[in-house]
Amino acid sequence: MHSRLTADAVVIGAGAVGCAVALRLARNGISPIVIERDDIAFNASGYAWGGLSAHFGSGVPGPMTEHYRTSIAKHIELYDEFAETAAIDWQLQKVTSLSLADDENTAAELAKDVEWMRSEGFVAEVIDGNDVYRLEPAIREGIVAASVVNAGWELDSYSYTKSIATEAERRGTTFTDGNVVAIHTKSDILTGVALADGSTISTPIAILATGPWTSEIQGITALPIKPIKGEILRLSRAGNDLQKRVGFDGFNVGRKPDGSVWAGTYEWDRGFNRKVTEEGRQHIFNGITGYIPSLKEAVITTSTACLRPVATDGLPIVGPSSVAQGIFYANGAGKKGILLSPLIADWIADLIHDEISAPKIVSATRFLDI
Ligand SMILES: Cc1cc2nc3c(=O)[nH]c(=O)nc-3n(C[C@H](O)[C@H](O)[C@H](O)COP(=O)(O)OP(=O)(O)OC[C@H]3O[C@@H](n4cnc5c(N)ncnc54)[C@H](O)[C@@H]3O)c2cc1C
Repeated sequence: MHSRLTADAVVIGAGAVGCAVALRLARNGISPIVIERDDIAFNASGYAWGGLSAHFGSGVPGPMTEHYRTSIAKHIELYDEFAETAAIDWQLQKVTSLSLADDENTAAELAKDVEWMRSEGFVAEVIDGNDVYRLEPAIREGIVAASVVNAGWELDSYSYTKSIATEAERRGTTFTDGNVVAIHTKSDILTGVALADGSTISTPIAILATGPWTSEIQGITALPIKPIKGEILRLSRAGNDLQKRVGFDGFNVGRKPDGSVWAGTYEWDRGFNRKVTEEGRQHIFNGITGYIPSLKEAVITTSTACLRPVATDGLPIVGPSSVAQGIFYANGAGKKGILLSPLIADWIADLIHDEISAPKIVSATRFLDI
């Protein structure tokens, strides 16, 4: 590591958001240095479910629906553009999801959701119990209805993040190992970033794509973001059923393109603890076998836990910091960071060029002093 470097821009963090920002900047002729202390896609971005959906999530129904939709369109464009050249196929595919109801109240709630989805142009319907078993015979008895939504997409989040990092590198981005410990400013203007090994990088632009860890960096104000842990089990010997995503009571199962069945998840506040636990595995396994009993025969081959960066209002924090000119946040994408990564990248690139395409609801100024 050099003791002093200069860069057009520094991106801190090589998750999906940092890599997408780097790719966008590189395409705009800025050659950023991306600094990552673990590895590319080592944290949540490498172990997410990979769902891209606009019909549910924070700010839906509401202002985020349109932004999630826009970002899905950007994902499709990216995939089409790089399908031929990408080092790894990140397997973007359309998926059909079933949400189950085992009582009339839940069925009525699903019906209301579907009514709203249809009014927004999503392909969705409610089916009765008999039709549920025709679609997915492995589901336990006692299901009275389900919503069937054919509006979401999925990708492999590890391959996606690695691939866009490779594309960013090909266009002039440098990836460097390092732990950024401080932001340096002078007269309210960013001058550079300091690394734990004592080196510094002088730069007029720093983008914090640090997931839930932003508050560890000195020289900026702590963001109102919490790490919310989740976990995914990968199962083998799960039979041949389950071609759709099936959700019930907060759990989800679905078969991935390699044939393995994935199951998730929970939203637990365990601080920065990223370890897989027996408690987590049991919680998910009991949850999914409660509605797909045949999965009791399946074998858990892998379980992965990671931390979502969740802001107190559940919405991303994207935009300039009030600490000093040149510092930008690209944080807090919560449960939607894979989905939002290309859109956040565009918002950041526009902001750097003094154009504002990012909506007010994601701006850092909605919180005081950050
Ligand atoms: C179980 C689970 C399932 C999920 N499913 C989905 C899904 O289906 N769809 C979806 O869109 N999202 C999903 N998410 C959310 C998604 O994973 C996150 O929103 C997204 O990965 C966040 O990306 P990021 O780049 O902001 O953060 P991260 O992936 O956490 O990357 C941040 C990087 O910054 C690095 N870093 C931090 N501080 C420093 C520093 N000081 N110096 C150097 N490097 C630093 C870290 O090492 C890390 O690698 C899921 C999350 C979980 C936990």
